[in-house]
Amino acid sequence: MTLGFRGKVFLSALAVAATGLAIATLILAIERRREEHTAIERRLTEQARLIAELLSHDTSPLTPQQLDDEADRLAELVNGRLTLIQADGRVVGDSTLDGQPLADLENHLQRPEVRGAAGDGVGIVERFSTTTNEAMLYAAVPARHPQVAFVRVSEPLTAVTEQVRRVGLRALLAFALVAPVAVGLAWLSSFLLSRRVRDIAAVARRYTTGDLTRATYDYGTDELGAVARALDTSVQELGTRLQELSRDRARMEAILTGMVEGVLVVDRAGRLQLVNRAAQQMLHVEPAAAGRPYVEVIRHPDITAQLAAALHEQPVEARELALVRDPGRTFVARAASVAGAGGGGAVLVLHDITDLRRADQIRRDFVANVSHELRTPLTAIRGYVEALLDDPGDLTDPVGDTRRFLEIIGRQSARMERLVKDLLRLARLDAKQEPLEIVECHLRSVAQAVIADLAPTVEAKQQAITTAVADEADRVMADPAKLHDIVRNLVENAVNYSPGGAQVRISTEARGDRVAIIVSDSGPGIPPEDLARVFERFYRVDKSRARPGGTGLGLAIVRHLVELHGGEVVAGNRPEGGATFTVSLPRDRSS
Ligand code: ADP
Repeated sequence: MTLGFRGKVFLSALAVAATGLAIATLILAIERRREEHTAIERRLTEQARLIAELLSHDTSPLTPQQLDDEADRLAELVNGRLTLIQADGRVVGDSTLDGQPLADLENHLQRPEVRGAAGDGVGIVERFSTTTNEAMLYAAVPARHPQVAFVRVSEPLTAVTEQVRRVGLRALLAFALVAPVAVGLAWLSSFLLSRRVRDIAAVARRYTTGDLTRATYDYGTDELGAVARALDTSVQELGTRLQELSRDRARMEAILTGMVEGVLVVDRAGRLQLVNRAAQQMLHVEPAAAGRPYVEVIRHPDITAQLAAALHEQPVEARELALVRDPGRTFVARAASVAGAGGGGAVLVLHDITDLRRADQIRRDFVANVSHELRTPLTAIRGYVEALLDDPGDLTDPVGDTRRFLEIIGRQSARMERLVKDLLRLARLDAKQEPLEIVECHLRSVAQAVIADLAPTVEAKQQAITTAVADEADRVMADPAKLHDIVRNLVENAVNYSPGGAQVRISTEARGDRVAIIVSDSGPGIPPEDLARVFERFYRVDKSRARPGGTGLGLAIVRHLVELHGGEVVAGNRPEGGATFTVSLPRDRSS
């Protein structure tokens, strides 16, 4: 069974109490023994001196028997044994021995106490007596008697032993009295200490579960409290740092996830540490790829080469590349080495520049188209002007070259003017400089106005324009001038691209909260592959068929105007032949 903290504290407190008591007992016993010893020593010395003094009063010669009797008589004055010793060491009287045993006693001259008495005047020795078979204390002094040179008094040390035993008994008694108190105190102190330790451990356990709210527990002011408080403060500080770190991390992840650029982070060992969502989509990488070597995950040689160079801290040039799985898109990849913190590595940023490139291409095409469109009439004008300069001819001749040339110059400059006008309008629409002025419009009157505008051409081509505007599809909230432009452009195209005698029809339909304006004709129609492209700037289905007055911008402007109203326009073909354009506009601008 392992001993708990409380058990250990209890036992050690108890052990300390017991050891303290034992040491105190020992010291007391030694002290008592020493005191008793000294007292006996002093008593024996005094008694020996008294006997020697008494002997010196009567120095008449005595027979051996008389001497021994004298010893027995004098011994009554002392507690212990009395021995009278001659100068040659022979024992002449002893209070415990008589007759033959006394005569048989060995010579005592070499006894340490006798030698002490002979030398220093008093000899005190403690030793085991072979005569009495017990530990004895001997005190010998010289005597002034012709037959007795030394008086020795001895006493067994039983008194001393008795004293020590008594001290021991008292100590045992004391221990018996103190033990319950010691046990109680040890139990109390171990209980109080272990309760604090348990409370501190409970706080620590709560911290490990992630709940770092500061403990209201009072740790106390002693060493245990100081240690617990210091640890608590460290945990709190660590918690704050951890919170800051996770906040930073969350912020960084949010930034990386929200970025349109693809970001790859590779550690020094070449393992992917981070692939943000954009990079996952661009490179078709699984989100779980983090942790794997980048060379296994990324199959694009340009990207792996850039990362390898960055990892070797070589200068890396940004590079434009197309990804095998996405050939239609263009990317710019730029890798850089990450130095220092975090152990180094490399970071690669992938930028999708497809739209940029496309916009660039559109701009270039547009400039080329504009230049081309302007050059054709300019070349014609210049040619005819030069011809007229060479030979002005006769302006009054109605069928002469001069008049014809000037008419051509007039037509070409009108075409240029239209082109410039349309370009300016597109530029204004692009820059959102044409505000909408929404009012209630009636499609029937819009159609009539357009028909009236185009009447001369329609008549000349012997065409017919019919309208079919239902009552429920007549009203629409729109900018009237722009709505007129939309319908006029579509009807003008229908008239222009249809041959003589063709039928053009303007109809409207209510479609939920929208109104559809449909302009159809019985002309040649539009090849299906060109249907989506006719709204592009300068796009013409058949360059050779382009009408002389057209700019190629009409439908682009129509789409712009329709979208400005929140609507859409699509081109199609009628099953029986001829093109059909459908403009769908929200009936109410608020909807
Ligand atoms: P344009 O000024 O040349 O008419 P648009 O943008 O109005 O330019 O028209 C683009 C092209 O769409 C035209 O060149 C023509 O080829 C084709 N197109 C437009 N409307 C019709 C139609 N009703 N029938 C046949 N082709 C058409």
